[in-house]
Amino acid sequence: MRFLQSHPRFLEEAYAVVVRLLPLGRRWLKPGGLVERLVIPLERVSKGAIFNCQMCGQCVLHSTGMTCPMNCPKNLRNGPCGGVRANGHCEVKPEMPCVWVQAWERSQAMPRYGHELLNVLPPVNRSLQGTAAWINESTGVGLKNPAGWVDAPEVSG
Ligand code: SF4
Repeated sequence: MRFLQSHPRFLEEAYAVVVRLLPLGRRWLKPGGLVERLVIPLERVSKGAIFNCQMCGQCVLHSTGMTCPMNCPKNLRNGPCGGVRANGHCEVKPEMPCVWVQAWERSQAMPRYGHELLNVLPPVNRSLQGTAAWINESTGVGLKNPAGWVDAPEVSG
């Protein structure tokens, strides 16, 4: 399934369709409800197979070149760090390509959302760990920062 990540154009079109469909199910998609208990394993299996999803509950794949930032050993949401090796691999796990190098390369093949890679993302909200990002996105929970957090400024290139 990981080969799909090499075809981010297809994935971003699929995401665009999902974004249009999600509002139709909003009345059933409620955080903490029965539907979420069913959606969580579905999301875990499908996104796990394609993106090695870590179930952060706040999905930003379309803004990160369809590359899950939670696979970065430092969990950077606005990478890369300064430690990328000359061969494009991670300084923490030398055998692993840098998540953010991959994000950059894949975003170049994404005409619809690729530019969002330049947006500054807020820190991940750890209280959403293990919840369903699909439901959090449809209800707006995933976009809302906890009380006391300052919204990140929108920066785009
Ligand atoms: S950003 Fe979060 S929800 Fe999206 S694939 Fe990565 S861990 Fe999963």
